[in-house]
Amino acid sequence: SRRTIIAGNWKMNTRAAGGAQLAQGIADAVGENPTVEVVVCPPSVYLSRVGDVLAGSAVSLGAQNLYPAADGAYTGEVNAAMLCDSGCRYVILGHSERRAILGETDAQISEKLAAALAGNLVPIVCVGETLQDRESGKTEAVVETQLRGSLEGLDEARASGVVIAYEPVWAIGTGKTASPEQAEEVHAFIRKLLGEMFTNDVAQQMRIQYGGSVKPDNAKELLGQPNIDGALVGGASLKVDDFVAIINAG
Ligand code: 13P
Repeated sequence: SRRTIIAGNWKMNTRAAGGAQLAQGIADAVGENPTVEVVVCPPSVYLSRVGDVLAGSAVSLGAQNLYPAADGAYTGEVNAAMLCDSGCRYVILGHSERRAILGETDAQISEKLAAALAGNLVPIVCVGETLQDRESGKTEAVVETQLRGSLEGLDEARASGVVIAYEPVWAIGTGKTASPEQAEEVHAFIRKLLGEMFTNDVAQQMRIQYGGSVKPDNAKELLGQPNIDGALVGGASLKVDDFVAIINAG
């Protein structure tokens, strides 16, 4: 049985004081023994501060990206060791905004995945089709290419600890959620693929989050689907009440 994982991707939002308040509000509401796993992913510059707020709570800290190299001459970048040192347990990789705006490729994501695992971080690897992909019937082909490319070289023994996030690009920040049936269809496809790439046993253990306009009023139905094991939440993770309502739906 896969433990539900609800993660908040704050993206490039919040300031130090507001982020600390948000994290404190979530930690207080979640309490000591939540049935689901809860993660918040602030901007990297605020990781330590939010990490301090979350210390001793049941809420884990995650980063939104990493650079796959050891310390050295990589101006502006942050590596897995630094994220761990700042209190991170998770790291989001290959978010569609990074793929689209920063040109991140599957090959780069696979390097980041290896670096995350070597650095003892739990990777959340994002995949998802654009509206154009979907309308031209390419959803499965696109998701398959992203998944195989991003997970290239992933050792079967480590795969079960990797989290996948299915985020249809057309549903991100648009208020258009995939219907539970649409989402479940792709999640089932992803699990079948993972079974081919690794083993069925491994695929059954891997968690697949849904992301894209998850809100308090649609969370329960989405999270009730057999192959949806959690949510990666953008906008609604920036408000304590909304995020906690989504956590409580899990
Ligand atoms: P929204 O929940 O704002 O649509 O964002 C989803 C997302 O991209 C999470 O990574």
